[in-house]
Amino acid sequence: MTTIAIAGFGKIARDQHLPALRDNRDFELTAIASRNATLEGVDNHQDLDALLSAVPALDAVALCTPPQVRYAQAVAAIEAGKHVLLEKPPGVSLSEVEDLVRRAKQQGVTLYATWHAREAAGVEKAREWLSTRRVTGVDIQWREDVRQWHPGQQWVWEPGGLGVFDPGINALSIVTRILPEAFFLREATLEVPENCQSPIGATLEFTDVHDTPIHADFDWRQTGPQTWQITVDTEDGKLVLDSGGSQLSINGERIIDGEDVEYAGLYRRFAELIRKGQSDVDVAPFRHVADAFLLGRRQSVEAFIE
Ligand code: NAP
Repeated sequence: MTTIAIAGFGKIARDQHLPALRDNRDFELTAIASRNATLEGVDNHQDLDALLSAVPALDAVALCTPPQVRYAQAVAAIEAGKHVLLEKPPGVSLSEVEDLVRRAKQQGVTLYATWHAREAAGVEKAREWLSTRRVTGVDIQWREDVRQWHPGQQWVWEPGGLGVFDPGINALSIVTRILPEAFFLREATLEVPENCQSPIGATLEFTDVHDTPIHADFDWRQTGPQTWQITVDTEDGKLVLDSGGSQLSINGERIIDGEDVEYAGLYRRFAELIRKGQSDVDVAPFRHVADAFLLGRRQSVEAFIE
């Protein structure tokens, strides 16, 4: 049994990590580090440093804080000899994630940079089907309501908060998993509210080595039904991943209509990595976001009011 603590007991920790840990026999949640939140029945501490010195028998830490504070927390946990699970995105820069990989290796602990959307029910089947096919075009529509998914969260609008790439990186984590060829950003437009540092909308144009067009629309202003859809055209027909990857259709036939299994999958994988003494840090989705911030044209749009 691996004892684990959660740092940052906010929305995703409560909505997903807590139930996933309760259902997983490999882990026992023993502590929380959060400045303003506590959980009954576990050790509660205001910050991770206090937790790490008070609970020395702890094996692992899940970092569910905003990305801006993740590097310092990950360093503290790794140096204390703990296995570390990083919520997505794994940090605020590629350089700091690279440094974490080096430190985890040096300390002999597992570092797992999670991509929860990759665990969605249809993703592996989609990857398998596409692996033997020639892709002719990709359309990604990832449009949701920021007020519903990030209520009151100022950090998403700050530098390093990623703005609409916070959900958009989930789509990128899926396409980097399922497409058989690497692809590259050619141009991007980032719509930045005049009172924010990060975009509320983005349009991205990628191509692969065959010049296959890969188009993405990310929008955080969608009210009503939410859209998390990836359409892949191939020489053998059309594959559609919908509902964030939990539904898969091929040539109009529904192949998978799965339940929400993403966080159960993440903790199964974390347990496996710890057992095998391995790490899993794939920065491909994060690199595309960094490219968008490097290449994108900024357009100022109306102020965001919560
Ligand atoms: P959140 O509700 O703001 O929770 C993060 C928690 O971290 C806060 O409640 C806060 O707890 C703590 N925190 C905030 N700022 C901090 C700071 N400067 N130093 C130390 N602790 C701080 O955010 P969230 O939605 O759970 O997102 C957290 C991460 O999960 C993000 O990387 C996000 O991309 C990822 N994620 C979110 C969702 C979603 O639907 N919201 C889905 C999947 C993944 P205290 O005030 O108690 O310290």
